[in-house]
Order: sequence, then structure tokens, then C-alpha cells
Amino acid sequence: MTVHRVGLMGGTFDPIHNAHLFIAEDARIRFVLDTVLFIPNGSPPHKSGREVASAHHRLEMTKLAVASNPMFRTSEIEMRADAPSYAVDTLRGIRSQFPDSEILYITGTDTVAELMTWKAPEEVIALAQFAAYSRPGCSPEQLQNALPANYLSRVHILESINLEISSTDIRQRLSAHKPVRYLIPDAVLEYIEHNDLYVR
Ligand code: ATP
Ligand code: MG
Repeated sequence: MTVHRVGLMGGTFDPIHNAHLFIAEDARIRFVLDTVLFIPNGSPPHKSGREVASAHHRLEMTKLAVASNPMFRTSEIEMRADAPSYAVDTLRGIRSQFPDSEILYITGTDTVAELMTWKAPEEVIALAQFAAYSRPGCSPEQLQNALPANYLSRVHILESINLEISSTDIRQRLSAHKPVRYLIPDAVLEYIEHNDLYVR
């Protein structure tokens, strides 16, 4: 497959949910992407404060979630390292895998708002453009205030439908035995139940 435009959908995916899948598909269509790579992170640098489901489980759930979309793939690029992965290292890796492609990093507004705190932000923004989907808790205005103008010219802020779905909420619902069906793919729910994940 010739890949001219590649979308990256990175996350902890603890667990992956329908808002992740929705923004990836919306970006794929809107930006005419040839493929979207879902990249579960190995040992998340920003989430060291709480216990995260094993990398193996998060990867398996991600594979199950993307299986029905032929344009979606899973990348294990951040799973190989023991140390936390930084976006800049991932982008360098993807760049060498697809040397002539444009890279679009698909995120929520909350994630890009922290870009200036990442490792080597100037290289990150040079390697990729961003699609930043609004979500409750981080408005487009907040994002605009968080980034310098030369960065914002590479960030497409998309005021979509503010899906109020988060992995945090899904974990809480599962541990409280509340329903999560239709917030996550059925295959992911089956995997969670089969492996007794998120029940304390
Ligand atoms: P947690 O609550 O554990 O932080 P999360 O739902 O934010 O989980 P992540 O794996 O942290 O999921 O997010 C991966 C990417 O998906 C991030 O860029 C995040 O901003 C984006 N994202 C997650 N949920 C939404 C949503 N409802 N709308 C827009 N973007 C989202
Ligand atoms: Mg998050």
C-alpha cells in the first residue's frame, strides 16, 4: 500500500473507547488519510500516578477495536521500549517507516494543550500536523491560549460533537458494575469481562 498521508492515534487506551474510534475515522475522512495507526503507549510518562492495565491487555483491546476497519492498523512502536515513549521518538520512527508521507497526529484538545511540556516540541511540530478534537474540559480557546502562533498554524482545531466519553469514566463504571455497552466496542467489552479487568 502506498501511504501518502498517515494518521497517528496515540493513547493509553485503558481501555480504548468509541470516542477514540470516532475521531480517528472523522480525521481519516476529513484529511483523506490512507491509513490510521493506533499506537498504545508502553509506559505512559504522564500517567505514572495510577496503575494502568498491562501493555499486553491494552494492545489486545486496541487490536480488537480496530479489526473491523480496513483503514485502521495497530502499531507496536511504543510497546517495545521499557522506558516511557515520547511523541518525538515515535514520530521519528514513523517518519523513517513512511519517509515521503505527511503525518497527522490525531488527538483531543486536552492532549495538544500540553505540547510545550513534551520532549522537543519544536521537532514534534515540524514532523507532524495535528488534528485536535474538542472535548469537555478543554475548549478550543484554552488550546489557543496554550500554544504559540507558529505552532497553532500546524494544529487543526476541530470543534466536533464534544463526546463525553473517557477511559477514566469507563474504568469507574466498570468497577461500579454500571453499563458500558455502546461506549466501547462489543469485542472490547467481551475481552474486559473475560480477563476480569477494571473490577476491584
Ligand atoms: P483517560 O481518562 O485515562 O485519560 P482518555 O479517554 O483521555 O483516557 P487517552 O488514551 O488518554 O483516553 O487518550 C488518547 C487520545 O484520545 C488523547 O489525544 C485524547 O485527548 C483523545 N481523546 C480521548 N477521548 C476523547 C474524546 N471524548 N474526545 C476527543 N478526544 C478524545
Ligand atoms: Mg486522557
